[in-house]
Formats: sequence, C-alpha cells, structure tokens
Amino acid sequence: MSFDADLFVIGGGSGGVRAARIAATHGAKVMIAEEYRMGGTCVIRGCVPKKLYVYASRFADDFADAEGFGWTLPQKPVFHWPTLVAAKEKEITRLSAIYGTNLAKAGVEIVQDRAEIVDAHTIALKSDGRRITAKIILVATGATPVLEPAVPGVEHAISSNELFDLPDFPKRLLVIGGGYIAVEFASLFARLSSQVTLAFRADNVLRGFDDDMRNGLRTELQHAGIDILAGTLPTRIEKRADGLHVACSDGQTRVFDQILLATGRRPHTRGLGLEAAGVAMDGVGAIKVDAFSRTNVASIFAVGDVTNRINLTPVAIREGHAFADTQFGGKEVSVDYSHVPTAVFTTPEIGTVGMTETEARRSFNVVDVYQASFRPMKGTLSGRPEKTLMKIIVDGETDQVLGVHILGHEAGEMAQLLGIAVKLKAKKADFDATMAVHPTASEELVTLRTRTARYLRETSGPGAGV
Ligand code: NDP
Repeated sequence: MSFDADLFVIGGGSGGVRAARIAATHGAKVMIAEEYRMGGTCVIRGCVPKKLYVYASRFADDFADAEGFGWTLPQKPVFHWPTLVAAKEKEITRLSAIYGTNLAKAGVEIVQDRAEIVDAHTIALKSDGRRITAKIILVATGATPVLEPAVPGVEHAISSNELFDLPDFPKRLLVIGGGYIAVEFASLFARLSSQVTLAFRADNVLRGFDDDMRNGLRTELQHAGIDILAGTLPTRIEKRADGLHVACSDGQTRVFDQILLATGRRPHTRGLGLEAAGVAMDGVGAIKVDAFSRTNVASIFAVGDVTNRINLTPVAIREGHAFADTQFGGKEVSVDYSHVPTAVFTTPEIGTVGMTETEARRSFNVVDVYQASFRPMKGTLSGRPEKTLMKIIVDGETDQVLGVHILGHEAGEMAQLLGIAVKLKAKKADFDATMAVHPTASEELVTLRTRTARYLRETSGPGAGV
C-alpha cells in the first residue's frame, strides 16, 4: 500500500517539530500540521515568553538594589507593558520562523491547518478539506489549560495563554493555583508592579517539591508583596464597572482587574478523531503509550504533554527524537525518565534534581540531609532580606546523592549541571572532593560538610546529627 507521507505529525510544538525534523533527516517523507503558530506552547505562549517576562520583572529588583551599591537613579523607573509585549512578540515571531525554516531545510512539508484523524492511516485537513494518508501518524498536540474551578462567572477569568498579550496591564491580579505557572506569574507580575493575590486550595505552593523549598519560596513570594491565600478559592466571579468582584471561600470579596486560572493543563485530545481510530486514552484524555511512544493502534504514536508523562519541553523533545530514531533511524531508542532536573522561574528560582527529602525517606533506610540557608552576597549591600536555600539529600548507607534542591538566583542553571552529577550517581564524597569556585553561591554545594539531619526509615523524627 502506498501513502502520501511516511510520517504525518499533528502539532508543531517541541515534540512534534523534533520528531518531524529527525525523521526527515533519516530519509522519511514527512508532513507536519499546525493549526496555530509553529513552535507550540513553549515558544509561543509558554517557557520562552515567560522567561522573557521574568527577565523584565527582575529589573525591578535591580533598580531597588542599585542604591546599596552606590547608584542613584535620576528618577523612579517606569515600566511600559505594551513595549514588553511588542518586544516579546517580535522575538517569538523570529523563533517561530526559525522552526519553520529548519523544518523546510530538512525537507518537511508544513501544513498550516487543523488536522484530524479519520482512521489509522488517514488525516483530514479541516480548512482545505484534503485527505492525506500516512504510514505513521504522530500525535503531538500538547495540552490546554484547565479552566477550573468552574465557579459562576469563571468565563471572566483567563489562562496563561491570554495573559501574555493583555492590552492593558493588570494592576490588580488574582492568580489561582499553586503550581509552576501560578507561582511564576505571581512572582513576575508582582515585580512588574501588579498588586498580586495568589490563592490555592492546598496548604502550600508547589505540591511535590521539597518542603523546605516550598516554605522558602512562599516567604520570598510574601517579600515580593504577594498576598497569599492558602486553602482559599473563589466561589463566584462578577464583572462590574470597577473590576472583577471575586467572592472567596474565606468569606471575603476582593476586586481585581484580571484573574489568571493556573490550575493545571489537560492533554489536547478532544475532537482529534482518536476515538474513531480506536486509540486508547486514560481518564484525563491522555493518550496511552508504551516506552517507545506507541499507542494501541500500530500506526499511531504520541509524544509530549498529550501523553501526560513528564510534562516538560525537554522531555517532549527527547520523546520526539527517540520516536524518530526508532521508527525511521533503524535504532531502538527509549527515553530515560530518571533524574529529570527542573526549574521554577520565580524570583528567586527553584532548581531541583532527584528525590525530595520526603521521597527519599520513604525509599531508603538511612537518609542524610545537608542543608544551608544564607543571605546571597548581592543582598549584603542592597539589604534585601532574601535567603538562598541549598539542600543535599544523601543515601546514608552508600553516600550516593539522591537529590539536590536550591532556592536562589540562577538555581535553574545550577540544576542543569547538578543533573549530570546526580545522573552519574555522584557520592557526597565526590561533591566534597570538588574544589569550590569562589565567591559563588554554588560553592556551598561542595563545602556543606556538617550533616543537618539523619533519618532512619520508619522513624518520624530527625536522628543523629541534628
Ligand atoms: P500544576 O500541575 O503545576 O499545578 C496546578 C495547580 O492547580 C496546583 O496548585 C493544583 O492544586 C491546582 N488545581 C488543580 N485543579 C484544581 C481545581 N480544580 N481547583 C483548584 N485548584 C486546582 O499545573 P500548572 O498549570 O502550573 O502547569 C502546567 C504544566 O506546565 C505543569 O505540569 C508543568 O510541568 C508545566 N510547566 C513547567 C514549567 C517549568 O518547567 N518551569 C513552567 C510552567 C509550566 P494541588 O496542588 O492541590 O493539586
């Protein structure tokens, strides 16, 4: 049987683009469809614009800190939101074009259209009505924001998709949720001069992160002037002339210009024709795949957030690359999901790799903790009351480092390099044997000699060394 393409990729985001490009370089005839803008969430309305806005926000701290270092600013700096939005737009347009160019250079045919699956080998293009057959179909459609809690008036709230391009800067911003997106946007908008309220249902931010990092970040968010409402959610939203009136579960009503819902993302599978093709999905609509991103339908594969494995851009890229190598490159490659480093781009940042203290104590007989909390050097002259936290979790029986967690400037950069050491199964003794780079914050990681706590499995309290 002959097909129009060897591979048809649905979704021009991080995972889909990588899979398409690598498959084409292996000699496959590849087509990729994108209904919005090439680059996907990460490039267009996720990681990249977010980081640009984080950079913009940090100037606020630099302006405030400058005085302690002898600078006098001639006048109070003024932030102009439309300038930032326009500059961001220019940059992501440039990046999106590069994605297109690189695909074209590799010989991939780009289809600017919505594609839906008709059957195991057929795709329908919604606008031009064409039907295309492919030997293999790869679904890489990512995820979309969950608009919850679904309280009356929730239609007045927005997701991170809209926040980047608001025509008017939100002076009073309510952020709902306590995950990555919530804390990152709360942190950056507070610095861009919004009065930010952060409301979430749990008792603390960033469920699943190390508790000391969660507590430390919460303190830093408060230092940034963010009003934190733990265990509080809206119950009703009403639009009035003076703003959005939000009745909250703590009995109070508060007024905002914008409400950001950052309560998670859901696999983008609705309306794709997956049911008709018989592709199995789980309860949240994620496509079920095996270690080689194969679905239960032999010709259909899926990578990235649409499979709800580890929802991070670099993971989607690896999955896309491994899929292309396996299907078109003649070598079986699967992704290693162990020790995935990650960063939360608040200010200060969280950088982390490996197990939290809680996870380690559940799995190991003896867990040693080495922890430091100190004022970063820059804060000494500026007087900023910020604390850097560093925490190394060690298997007390083998001395292997199980996890490293940092709250501090450039913690994301540190996490990337620590990821290598932890992946190589470095021991605490290897950290200790490494010469410090002075004066840096990260030197603390190789000079932390005194154990803060030792925990024995099944014991609840800290043991020797406390
Ligand atoms: P997260 O899963 O990180 O957080 C979701 C938050 O919403 C949690 O606080 C959760 O509470 C809360 N929540 C979920 N459902 C409800 C509900 N029905 N009512 C009230 N609260 C609710 O999702 P995000 O939206 O922050 O981010 C989406 C994905 O994007 C993440 O999986 C992450 O991997 C990725 N991302 C990564 C970034 C990075 O690497 N720096 C940056 C931004 C996003 P609870 O904790 O109680 O469950």
